[in-house]
Amino acid sequence: MTSQEFFDHGNLVSVLTTQPLGRALDYKAPEGGCHLGAFVEVPLGPRKVLGVVWGPGKGDYDINKIRHVIRVLDAAPMRAEMRSFLERAAAYTLTPMPAMLRLATRAPGLGDPPSMRKVYRRGASEPERMTDARRRVLQTLAEYGDLSFTLKELAEMAGVTSSVVKGLVGQGAVFEEDSPRDVPFQRMDPDLPSKELTEDQAVGAQALAEGVRAQTYGTTLLRGVTGSGKTEVYLEAIAAVLRAGRQALVLLPEIALTEQFFTRVQERFGAKPAEWHSGATMTERRRIWRMVGQGQAQLVIGARSALFLPFQNLGLIVVDEEHDTSYKQEEGVLYNARDMAVLRAAICGAQVVLASATPSLESWANAEAGKYRRLDLTSRFGPAVMPTMGAIDMRGEGLASDKWVSPTLQSEVSKRLEKGEQAMLFINRRGYAPITLCRACGHQIGCDDCDARMVEHRFLKRLVCHQCGESKPMPEACPSCDAVGKLAPVGPGVERLGEEATALWPDARIATLSSDMYGSARALKAEIAAISEGAADIIIGTQVVAKGHNFPNLTLVGVIDADLGLMGSDLRAAERTFQLMRQVAGRAGRAEAPGTALLQTYQPEHPVIRAILAGDEEAFWAAEAAERKQAGVPPYGRMAGIILSGPDVAQLFDAGNLLARQDGPLRAVGAQVFGPAPAPIARVRGRHRVRLLVKADKTAALQDALARWVGQLRLKGDLRIAVDIDPQSFY
Ligand code: ADP
Ligand code: ZN
Repeated sequence: MTSQEFFDHGNLVSVLTTQPLGRALDYKAPEGGCHLGAFVEVPLGPRKVLGVVWGPGKGDYDINKIRHVIRVLDAAPMRAEMRSFLERAAAYTLTPMPAMLRLATRAPGLGDPPSMRKVYRRGASEPERMTDARRRVLQTLAEYGDLSFTLKELAEMAGVTSSVVKGLVGQGAVFEEDSPRDVPFQRMDPDLPSKELTEDQAVGAQALAEGVRAQTYGTTLLRGVTGSGKTEVYLEAIAAVLRAGRQALVLLPEIALTEQFFTRVQERFGAKPAEWHSGATMTERRRIWRMVGQGQAQLVIGARSALFLPFQNLGLIVVDEEHDTSYKQEEGVLYNARDMAVLRAAICGAQVVLASATPSLESWANAEAGKYRRLDLTSRFGPAVMPTMGAIDMRGEGLASDKWVSPTLQSEVSKRLEKGEQAMLFINRRGYAPITLCRACGHQIGCDDCDARMVEHRFLKRLVCHQCGESKPMPEACPSCDAVGKLAPVGPGVERLGEEATALWPDARIATLSSDMYGSARALKAEIAAISEGAADIIIGTQVVAKGHNFPNLTLVGVIDADLGLMGSDLRAAERTFQLMRQVAGRAGRAEAPGTALLQTYQPEHPVIRAILAGDEEAFWAAEAAERKQAGVPPYGRMAGIILSGPDVAQLFDAGNLLARQDGPLRAVGAQVFGPAPAPIARVRGRHRVRLLVKADKTAALQDALARWVGQLRLKGDLRIAVDIDPQSFY
């Protein structure tokens, strides 16, 4: 089949829209014709909707009823490789194409004409009367005449009020004009001086740069302890991409929290990268989308959805902290950005770097199997060494039931404070206390809509459901027995730990960090920067502090409850605990002072705790891999989760049982189905949830089988079905 690249006026074209229809629709090409891949506006019933010309029309519809494309939008057509990426990602995740297209068009006003703003230049005339302020404005324009200033910028640069500038406009000394708002990003310079790499780092950088220069696909697992210089290494791979005139994408898990990273990029390349995430303004999102599509954004730093930006010439994707669970999108389109990065790179001949101190078992296994190249940075940069690890056996500490810092940990923290060093207490639980119990009747306050307890947040003075986000004021009386003053917090959260620390060390400066305690990501970012410069003696934090921040003066990390992650029934529980503990421990001893990490545990002989203490990662991975192989679960087998949800439990089980019985399509590929069973969280936002699990061999053609199997079900009423390929969380 020859693929036609241009359609003349009146030719039939097939247009994929973002509307949830089963298929692409035929339209007639507009006056002036349109390209394959063009972004277009088409009529759909009474509405105008966004679409992409996906191919020639199918011609299976009454030609007289076919309408014209309204207009071709002013945006570069979607490239063949992007269309192919969306199709393959849709097939892999069993997602309808319109939903994929929505991911790829997540910028507002794509079809609008370029939006304009006023900018100011030197005009032809001289002002009638020269004042100091006026002179400063004209001097600024003379000095930086090749830049375009907005009114605010110009006034600020010249140190005058905007009325001074307006006055000069009135006299023709300054000229006001419209200029497009979507301006290109500043060029990056790959040849600014880089840090002098260590031998390890240089070998890694060299290998990555070669892959980039060859313009072929390849994935590299870049493994190295925190602080070993992984970032330095992949910055050099980015430099190679820039030199080749291609584009690079860096995915980060906690995009809003990585000020340090942006500063480093700017130092290395002399310009700011594009920053893509949900917190970016609408205008900025639109600007990035358009500039990426025109090849005028060379480097994008983004959250997982940046993977769907319209890169023209992508040469490298870095997935930093590749093991991070936030790469899996758990709502809407269920995709894993790490895996989709590999898919996208394979299609467009780009390199992928998966960077982590504690890789996922999936990536570790792919490297073992020779599918990924593996590069190891074995030591920390400079004098810093890995922290000494130790366990505190809580069975011998005789701690009161409402206290969490053991005497041993207390004295270790005090020693650090005396030396003027920082200590961190880590607990992976937001809020004040996970349980609110009535001491009169034993009732525990739960969420009205979910199968979950409400968590007290004293800072907000509310009870919050961590499942659905619903909150209510802390009641005076027990909602079950009406007893007043009997509600008591049970168990620790980060806020309560902060309270305990304040009582233990009244003179210390204590900073409590939890994602929900700051009004904005910016405020949290600022707080972390201040702490890293020494604004606190004791840092009390949740997971937010485990991720990649630099605290040079931190020499002790105390993990309050190392057993917390070991209790789940999740197949990745051991892996997650191992990763998290290693990451937290990696916060200590980044600069000259050596660090120590102490784990409070009631089961010091647990294999995961022992592996963490021994620091023997390869042994941990090998043991974990052997166990999963034995059980035939990922990454050595394939899994899919099917969640049926709806208002009526009985109806859900009927549907689930029906599916389980009609498992012919699954059996045809050797797959097995388990369930239906109540999902681990059996009710969310008032909807009941029932789950089936499908297990298959690694080589089975699972997607096709699943599509045929699920396709048998007629969804009645308000019943919904979601298929999750490679489920990460088992909730
Ligand atoms: P990772 O990404 O592995 O955590 P980084 O790249 O952030 O490690 O490096 C940790 C610190 O060491 C950073 O402050 C970095 O600038 C510094 N560093 C790493 N390698 C070098 C080098 N070769 N020369 C100078 N500083 C380095
Ligand atoms: Zn809830």
